[in-house]
Order: sequence, then C-alpha cells, then structure tokens
Amino acid sequence: METAEIITDKTKCASTRQCVSVAPGMFGIDQADGRVKVLTPHVQSDDIDLADEAVESCPVQALRLQLADR
Ligand code: SF4
Repeated sequence: METAEIITDKTKCASTRQCVSVAPGMFGIDQADGRVKVLTPHVQSDDIDLADEAVESCPVQALRLQLADR
C-alpha cells in the first residue's frame, strides 16, 4: 500500500491558506504563529491525490509530499 508523508517548511509559509482551502482536513493554521499546521502528516493511499493537489497549490513551495512504500 502506498503511503506518503507531508513535509513542511514553515519558514517559507506565507499564510496564504490555499492548502487549507484545498484540503481542510489535512491542513490548518497554527494559532501561535499564523503559519501552516499539518493535521495529518501521514497520508494513506486514498488521500494522496488530494494531498498532492494541496501541496501543488502552495505558491511558495512550503509543502512537499514524500512517497513511501510499505
Ligand atoms: S498554501 Fe503554502 S503559504 Fe499558503 S498557508 Fe499553505 S503552506 Fe502556507
């Protein structure tokens, strides 16, 4: 089964919320610093397409999806 991990670089996050709009179940905004917060770091195969769409939506490349087989 294919799984993936969402990796963030919070220092790049510009708080634009595109990722939250695309996948609100996976991404939120950290109230402490106003930057992205990953709610589900480990993504199961059924959700990989949605996670990929959210990662691609980020205008500053603060998100990355790392695929892993298991
Ligand atoms: S889309 Fe990118 S810049 Fe915008 S909140 Fe998400 S991680 Fe941050």
